[in-house]
Amino acid sequence: MRKYRLMAPGPTPVPEKVLLRMADTLIHHRTPQFQAVLKDVNKKLKKVFKTENPVFIFASSGTGAMETSVINLLSKGDTALVISGGKFGERFGEICEAYGVRTVNYDVVWGEAASADVVRDLLKKNPEIKAVFGTLCETSTGVVNDIEKIAKVVAETPAVFVVDAISGLLADELKTDVWGVDVAIGGSQKGFMLPPGLSFLTLSAKARKLIESSDLPKYYFDLKAALKSHAKDDTPWTPAVSLIMGLDTILDMILEKGLDNALSYHARLAAATRAGVENMGLELFAKAPSNAVTAVKVPEGIDGAAFVKKMRDEQKITVAGGQAELKGKIFRLAHLGYTDEFDTISALSAASIVLKQLGCDVEFGKGAAKAEEMFM
Ligand SMILES: *Cc1c(COP(=O)(O)O)cnc(C)c1O
Repeated sequence: MRKYRLMAPGPTPVPEKVLLRMADTLIHHRTPQFQAVLKDVNKKLKKVFKTENPVFIFASSGTGAMETSVINLLSKGDTALVISGGKFGERFGEICEAYGVRTVNYDVVWGEAASADVVRDLLKKNPEIKAVFGTLCETSTGVVNDIEKIAKVVAETPAVFVVDAISGLLADELKTDVWGVDVAIGGSQKGFMLPPGLSFLTLSAKARKLIESSDLPKYYFDLKAALKSHAKDDTPWTPAVSLIMGLDTILDMILEKGLDNALSYHARLAAATRAGVENMGLELFAKAPSNAVTAVKVPEGIDGAAFVKKMRDEQKITVAGGQAELKGKIFRLAHLGYTDEFDTISALSAASIVLKQLGCDVEFGKGAAKAEEMFM
């Protein structure tokens, strides 16, 4: 029996202890037992997001929380600035469009990070902008954006700053309150090491004001209802009880080791992955690489889709290919969550085998050896 390795930038593997907790007897959510868990989870989530503000939990994938931010902060005819340098940044633009929000687009070259100076200029030229949407780790390109710098620029204006930190959180630094991020968004199936199905959203006092006047249609994702319930450590609708039980366990595991440890652990795996692929003679795609996922250029003449398929079907390692304009051109090797040094080394070894099978001139052992050296 081959061992299966999930090395995509979401979903990521789930620790056994968390799987066991989620398999426990299901309890009802309107009980003191569940409410005690939720109260504790709410407190622990604030620590992970580095915020004193409430963190809401939705029974949805990450996109649900992205949509929540748009429909609760804005109104018909409002203007938003969408910073996009990949698939996920574009998603904010698509959501705005779906609800009739006007957008000013800052299209960053894919593979590059957004510039705070450009954001400043766009905000000056378009003073009607009410919200700025950005991404911590743009998972489709493997780029990490300088959220701290951009937040400083947005904070000088009346606009609120919404950050999709779904893949970046716990791997790349995010200081929600200290940096002045108004809304930070997370998802369960990335650095949180849970199955897909939960999304998270923080809300600053500045963002809270916008909720009062927002007239876009909403019901399930209405933050007014969420706020009311959150104050009582409750939820307006039935929460995803089992996933929240798993969240309780994983938050304890993460906080026990500390958030700094989570960041340095991801940084270590990411650095070895980058050095490993470069030592194999491959090129990195991202100019500002994230510690959640490494995007690698598929060598000239090699079929990128075949690489991902052979990795998955023959080596039993799920890596991600390129999306949209990057289809077949890059592959993305994640080192996010419940993954370790030896997963990284295995993935580099498997990549050499598969690349060689596809006709690429790689020397065996180069990637793994470099990673071993760095880990030592
Ligand atoms: C995974 C991911 C999402 C959310 O996608 P869902 O499929 O809705 O969970 C959003 N943004 C980024 C940057 C992501 O990596």
